[in-house]
Amino acid sequence: MFLERSEGLYIGKFATLFRCPEIGHGVSTRPGGVSTGGCASLNLGNPHHDSGANIEANRARYFSSLGLTRDEAAIPGQVHGTRIAAVDGPGVIPDTDGVMTATPGVCLTVQTADCLPVFLYDPFTPAVALVHAGWRGCRDGILAAAVAGMRRTYGSDPAAFLACIGPAIGPCCYRVDEVFKEYFPARFFLEDRLDLAAVAVHQLTGSGIDPRRIEASGICTSCFSRYFFSYRRDGEGTGRMMSALILH
Ligand SMILES: [Zn+2]
Repeated sequence: MFLERSEGLYIGKFATLFRCPEIGHGVSTRPGGVSTGGCASLNLGNPHHDSGANIEANRARYFSSLGLTRDEAAIPGQVHGTRIAAVDGPGVIPDTDGVMTATPGVCLTVQTADCLPVFLYDPFTPAVALVHAGWRGCRDGILAAAVAGMRRTYGSDPAAFLACIGPAIGPCCYRVDEVFKEYFPARFFLEDRLDLAAVAVHQLTGSGIDPRRIEASGICTSCFSRYFFSYRRDGEGTGRMMSALILH
């Protein structure tokens, strides 16, 4: 992943998806917004710790930097579940942690602050999906559910997918309780720290995606405080990044 400067913001881009002009995508970063305190400055979620006006102003800047408007966004109301919703228009989708579409012009989004944003692109249908995957989602199989949902809904073949994993808390910083070793295989731990992105790569390949077509950012949200919010580092009052994915 690299950062592209656009309208005063720094937008995370995957080389894998950047090569595909038929889709647009991005991962937000912290600088360039209007929020202050723990949400400083480009907070795109967390209404419990920031004003709605700030969040809306930041979203307007973010979507503009992507060449979009807020009116195109499909925004899931995330609950750390495994439901994947097929959407064909913008709006808020309650109780959903993944969204997918084959409709051009619908901007899929998810919000994160340590969890994995996972981008899936089927270039042949074409269709896209965007998933919010934390430890609960990974434990409960949300990535397999997303691939299965695209197969079922759009006839997608995962062997053709491109997949990208955005910034999330890394194995350098993600200390977890002993009980996590019941949830994930031992090889994904470095002592008491979990490599959740490696879990995600394993699950995506297990669903039929070619590992050579998976790009993981390798960026730890907790390590890079200048650019990323981190729930583990800063607590509940921190802001939220927003990932976006759209078929043009
Ligand atoms: Zn780290």
